[in-house]
This record gives sequence, C-alpha cells and structure tokens, in this order.
Amino acid sequence: MTVSTPLHTASSADLVDANHILAHFGIVDAFGHVSMRHPLDAERFLLARNLAPALVKTDDILEFDLAGQPMTGMGQALYLERFIHSEIYRARPDVMAVVHSHAAAVLPFSVVAGAPFRPACHMCGFLGAGAGIFDIGDVTAGPSDLLIRDSSLGRALAEALGATNAILMRGHGSTVVAASLKVAVYRAYYMAVNARLILEARQLGAVQFLSTEEAAAALATENQVDRPWRVWKAAADRQAAAPKAGAKNMYIAPPFWAKGRIGAAMSSSRRR
Ligand SMILES: [Zn+2]
Repeated sequence: MTVSTPLHTASSADLVDANHILAHFGIVDAFGHVSMRHPLDAERFLLARNLAPALVKTDDILEFDLAGQPMTGMGQALYLERFIHSEIYRARPDVMAVVHSHAAAVLPFSVVAGAPFRPACHMCGFLGAGAGIFDIGDVTAGPSDLLIRDSSLGRALAEALGATNAILMRGHGSTVVAASLKVAVYRAYYMAVNARLILEARQLGAVQFLSTEEAAAALATENQVDRPWRVWKAAADRQAAAPKAGAKNMYIAPPFWAKGRIGAAMSSSRRR
C-alpha cells in the first residue's frame, strides 16, 4: 500500500484537523494522540509521528500495522503509547478512530472508584451505562509508570474497553473510540463536557444520569457531527492563522471548561 492515494491524502488532512481541533479545545496538550484506521487497509492505521498534536502536519502522518510498528516514516520518533491504538483496532473491527488524552477535566473520575462516569447530558449517549476504569496495576507485576508501553498492555486495555466506547485509565487519562474520526473527536470533546457537568451538578445535589435507554436513544445526536466539526475546525484554523505576535499562544486557548468555576485556575485570560 502506498501513502500517496487521493483517499490517503484526504484522510491525512482530516487527521491533521482532528489533531488541531483536540489541541485547540484543550482535550490534548503536549501529550495525547488521535488515530484513524487506514481507509483502504483494515490492518493498518494512521497516526502522527511523535509530535504535540497542535504541531502535526500532513507529512507527519505515518502508517502503522496492528502490532504498532511503523510501515512508513522509518527512523522517526514515535508515540510511546501507540499500542493503545493498535490493540484496539485489532480487537474491535467496528472501531475506525481512537482518541487517547490526559484531559484534566476527566482525570478525577479515573482516581475515585465511587464516582461513576455516566452520561449526564444527551450529547454523551455514547457513554451508555458508564465508562469503566482500567487500572494498570491489575495487569502489571509491579509498579509501573502507568503508560501503555507495549502490545501486552494495549491488549489489556482493549479487553477492559470491551464493547464500550470509552475507558478511563487510572491516574493517567482516558481513551474513546468511534466508527468515524469525526465522531471520535466529538466524543472526546463531550467526555470533557460531561465531566464538568457532573462536577458542577454535584454541588447542587445528587446527579440524575441518563438511563441506559435514554443514552441509547441520544446516540442519534451524533448523526449531526458535521455541524460541530465545521465550527471546531474553523476555530482551530483561525487560531493557526493568528498574527505572529500571538503565535506563542497558538492552540492554547482556554479550555472550554475553564469558563466555569471548575478549572477557573486553568484560564490564562488569553481570549481575544
Ligand atoms: Zn497517555
């Protein structure tokens, strides 16, 4: 398979947009990554070389096999945790895109077992009955750095994900999957929204989550993914085109959850 087919080029461009959107909204920062299954070869996937997502360009998109080994761009530095992607694609033929992030809004739910991460709004039907927590300590012989460093750990994560769409990773982050790149980005975005909603609602009282039936019905909202994708891409593109004077702040717009009380300390007043 060559890397120069028109379809591959279009897919790489979408993947670049996905990187920039996730970075623009603070879902990923210097770390975190997004991939998509190769449009012409289900045994491969596309993922950037080791770069902060905001800096990814089309030329940085590489092909990998399902062992997590690069098929293009030999000799380039690679993401350490690419096995998250390879093993999920191997285990889940329905998955066409994966986002792994360390989004600060979601992290609290990965370290408190008694704080279930269930859908609190209709944009989060993909959470179903709630995201599980993968505790790497359950599958390693001794203490680890919590990272998914090899196929074996990736396989354990994929098993914990099972047939669900999202998994929290204890003290580390989260991973979300979807049948398309745009929906994977949408889900990563709304996972952070959901986290903020739960934290804020809890200050008022007990949270009434969507029932599993409501969550299933709410999945239809994802059919409109092109609407948010367009405006998110426009926002990321505008930021990228900002004058040089503001270039040092490129892609570091305040995370959307910083607008509320939660995470206010994260806001750096960079809004124009
Ligand atoms: Zn990670």
